[in-house]
Amino acid sequence: MQGLLNIFRKKTLVPQLTNFDPEIRQIADPDHVTIPLDYPGKVRYKPTVKPGDQVYKGQVIAKSRIGNCVCASISGTVKEMTSIWTAQSFHSPAIVIENDGNQSSSPEKIFDGPVDVQGDPEAAMARLRTAGVAPPWSLSGREYEKDGELAQLPPVKTIVITGIRQETTILTSQLLLEQNADKVADGLKRIVYLAPDAKICLTAPEDSRSWAEAKFQGLAEVEYLPENYLGRIEREVISRIHGQRIPNRESYRFHGIAVLDVEYLIAMVDALDGVAPLTQKCLTISGSNIDRAITVRFPLGSSIKHVLASQGLDISSYTRPVVGGPMMGFAQYSDTTPLTYNNGLFLIAEDVTPFDSMAPCINCGRCTRICPVDIQVHMVNRMIEYGQLDSARTLHPDACHECGLCANVCPAERPIVQLLHFCNHEMVHGERYNWITGDNS
Ligand code: SF4
Ligand code: SF4
Repeated sequence: MQGLLNIFRKKTLVPQLTNFDPEIRQIADPDHVTIPLDYPGKVRYKPTVKPGDQVYKGQVIAKSRIGNCVCASISGTVKEMTSIWTAQSFHSPAIVIENDGNQSSSPEKIFDGPVDVQGDPEAAMARLRTAGVAPPWSLSGREYEKDGELAQLPPVKTIVITGIRQETTILTSQLLLEQNADKVADGLKRIVYLAPDAKICLTAPEDSRSWAEAKFQGLAEVEYLPENYLGRIEREVISRIHGQRIPNRESYRFHGIAVLDVEYLIAMVDALDGVAPLTQKCLTISGSNIDRAITVRFPLGSSIKHVLASQGLDISSYTRPVVGGPMMGFAQYSDTTPLTYNNGLFLIAEDVTPFDSMAPCINCGRCTRICPVDIQVHMVNRMIEYGQLDSARTLHPDACHECGLCANVCPAERPIVQLLHFCNHEMVHGERYNWITGDNS
């Protein structure tokens, strides 16, 4: 009885940031970087270098089928081609570059000056591709394969640039929007020449309205979002802007929508101006015993260990690093995992007991009440738990955004999102069940 009372007393607040350093700290190059080449369901790059090659920062080291590129994030020697587990728990081939202590080459070595996007949009698109700034409307986001061929996609009707922090602990977009507002405005002006028929939208925090209205007037439709997590879940926001709900497992691009972060808009401006290719990324470090969240800028492919050490943090002080935020992030089992297109690192200091048996559902209904897409979460979960995927399918688990709210409020701490993820993965990719036909094989 006491145990039951205890689980009802559990606090279910979404983790918040109470304090943060607004400065984005540049961290030094690591002794090596590991750059993944495969983002399953998204994009696959083939290496254009081999072990032993000398590469310079900004040099193209891999290309996708449509010519989007990955650039070396440090100068050095290609040590090996290997395979790794990425921060998103995918197995991927990867290029390892060992730092040789040389600094990056000059922009002149990489680019032949600025590109006029208004005068020559095709040259501008080519520049973005070689600079590693994957423009989403140009099919960079996903492979979109159909029978081994690139699928035809509808034209982009809406471009959404996100300037808010979806996860409450990740500050990158918000800080970059505030600190680079002129460059963001510049990027908005240029994007119209690359996608002339698209509606351009920008999401911004409600408390930026006082200055953002004047800054972005006439350049984009600005959607001001509240501070709370529920009001900022990306799929929900995109649905509101676009007027159509897009399930988690469907690409925006198939619906004529492209979504990119302000960080990539800024990187586009730098690439078009011939200033720098995309070799760095910003990420916010926060956690249960970090008083002041820190945002750093690091070379792509740096390890978790390198990024933490640069701020005097030691992984042994924590039970688990989570790449992403506490609601939607991925727990990591190793601090050698490379960080690439990740916006947050959330460190958990409390004890975790991952080998406890799964606690039973007590039918409190909290998960179902909070679900933003109205899934009967408690029902679906138990069906999945007992292998009744046919029954689970009738309750549309595929609508799940994996926003994490249900797991966050569950007093029994059940692995709700993992079960839903398993179910949806099984339905799309599993051998046991065919989502399309509903047949077991
Ligand atoms: S993670 Fe939970 S709350 Fe969020 S959409 Fe999925 S079922 Fe609903
Ligand atoms: S799964 Fe849902 S209904 Fe069951 S205990 Fe957790 S929050 Fe309550």
